[in-house]
Amino acid sequence: MEESVRDPDTGSETGGDDALLGNVSKLTVTPPGHTGVARKGHLVFDACFESGNLGRVDYISEFEFDLFIRPDTCNPRFRVWFNFTVEHVRETQRVIFNIVNFSKTKSLYRDGMAPVVKSTSRPKWQRLPAKNVYYYRCPDHRRNYVMSFAFCFDREDDVYQFAYCYPYTYSRLQHYLSSLEQRNLDYLKREQLGLSVQQRKLDLLTITNPANLSPEREKRVVFLTARVHPGESPASFICQGFIDFLVSQHPVAQVLRDHVVFKIVPMLNPDGVYLGNYRCSLMGFDLNRYWQDPSQWAHPTLHAVKQLIIQMNQDPKVSLEFYIDVHAHSTMMNGFMYGNVFEEEERVQRQAVFPRLLCHNAPDFSLSSTSFNRDVVKAGTGRRFLGGLLDDTSYCYTLEVSFYSFLTAGSTTPIPYTEDSYMKLGKNVARTFLDYYKLNSPIAESKLTSQFSSVDAADAGHQGSNARKGKNQNWDKNEKRFQGVRDY
Ligand SMILES: [Zn+2]
Repeated sequence: MEESVRDPDTGSETGGDDALLGNVSKLTVTPPGHTGVARKGHLVFDACFESGNLGRVDYISEFEFDLFIRPDTCNPRFRVWFNFTVEHVRETQRVIFNIVNFSKTKSLYRDGMAPVVKSTSRPKWQRLPAKNVYYYRCPDHRRNYVMSFAFCFDREDDVYQFAYCYPYTYSRLQHYLSSLEQRNLDYLKREQLGLSVQQRKLDLLTITNPANLSPEREKRVVFLTARVHPGESPASFICQGFIDFLVSQHPVAQVLRDHVVFKIVPMLNPDGVYLGNYRCSLMGFDLNRYWQDPSQWAHPTLHAVKQLIIQMNQDPKVSLEFYIDVHAHSTMMNGFMYGNVFEEEERVQRQAVFPRLLCHNAPDFSLSSTSFNRDVVKAGTGRRFLGGLLDDTSYCYTLEVSFYSFLTAGSTTPIPYTEDSYMKLGKNVARTFLDYYKLNSPIAESKLTSQFSSVDAADAGHQGSNARKGKNQNWDKNEKRFQGVRDY
């Protein structure tokens, strides 16, 4: 989320506990007064691993435990992400876990969201049944909002892991990027753009036909970033889906690589991700508030990305046409976008084109939730800052996706997101650039027609006679084209 201090997602001091500085480490929780060796069923909690988060466990009864989220490092206001293991269980042991110190009030738990779980013998993450989850204001915990879930352990030798949402760690990203590199694709380049405070890599991918990188070529650039907010793991699945599609042999991906330079920073806040924070960096900064003046020592990853963007913006051969920062949202359904507000109506309309095209391609993307704003408190966000920096032919968006689910057109039953459906949204974002550039591109129409009629007959039907006109004349045609698209 890129939300503001007035927003329910923002942290509160209430319920924070400054004593919760570290994660529990193989903590055996025994009943009060118990002496001697722990028995089976005396649960062992652990969060000392990558992206782990659990600060404290209180024994309430044999069946019930109060769990405390460890606040973000150096910023006790944020307590949302949790990720921990439980072992030493008894077969058929039933428990209730109460997560008692959330920093938020409004939550998708009220709408059916549930934590995810996996275990040693069932390594694929799945969501708990919504009926096992309760979210309520609890008189026992300073009237804080508490999320309780019931769980029945069934295999004594399994280690069970519970998390707020599907984890996507720094190491997972490193493995993924290494596997991409090993494919030796001539249209993929991986660079180290900088280092975090704790010396983790800030990766930059460039995906394009290598001919586009020659110094004399004019370059149209699409820039995408993710995980400035470390607890927003769905952003990484979207980013990976985006990359997977662009490096694929799909004919649409090939044409996009021929005409566009994609620059991707998959993890803007690697320390925060590693540490299991929800919103902040190691030093407790919400990096998405520091775009205006990032410090080289306090916000080095943000500083490096901003320098790169400024440098590209000054290069007369580079046209930075899109900047998209990917986030996840804790209270909204679907995928949707935030954009900027401009004085000129024509620019406002042009900015609405990409979300409209995306809505057409992605059944989980909601145009009605997409909005444009200029809140003062969001001035330090990437979208707002770059929207002011770049010229009026550039578009800057925040892409948000629900931590929980989406509604498709005409349906009232939410479909919970999976790792795969998050990735699919990323793929749909990537292929939407084809539709965009078919309408707004100097590329000869005949070339596009021949290339795409065989690829995607449905898309080819959308190709208007306006493909060769400049951007400025095109939005009205796009409007007409989308009048029939149902919004939900
Ligand atoms: Zn965010």
